Amino acid sequence: MTYVITQACVDVLDKACIDECPVDCIYEGDRMLYIHPDECVDCGACEPVCPVEAIYYEDDVPDKWKDFYNANVDFFSDLGSPGGAAKTGKIGKDHPLVAALPPQGEGH
Ligand code: SF4
Ligand code: SF4
Repeated sequence: MTYVITQACVDVLDKACIDECPVDCIYEGDRMLYIHPDECVDCGACEPVCPVEAIYYEDDVPDKWKDFYNANVDFFSDLGSPGGAAKTGKIGKDHPLVAALPPQGEGH
């Protein structure tokens, strides 16, 4: 099981969640952040600090954002398990679902 970052993070990525994660498993894509499904230990520390409520436990992801579960998982399909977001640094790509979104702004 894992926590999942959803659409509200896109073009926001203020990174408040990164400071809370005890295992450094929240990775930075180009337009949003992604939680590594195998490295996440389900502690829940990131969820309450997100200012836009983008983070959900996987069973609690709203239906309209269900596709973001796969977006978080598939983002790592060619990266494997890097074992730490800080040392990995910014990953200059996004899942196609995210890359196809128009620019997101306040209130969207
Ligand atoms: S705290 Fe929320 S909006 Fe900020 S980077 Fe994390 S998931 Fe994205
Ligand atoms: S639930 Fe815990 S381990 Fe998983 S991403 Fe959030 S802070 Fe990191």
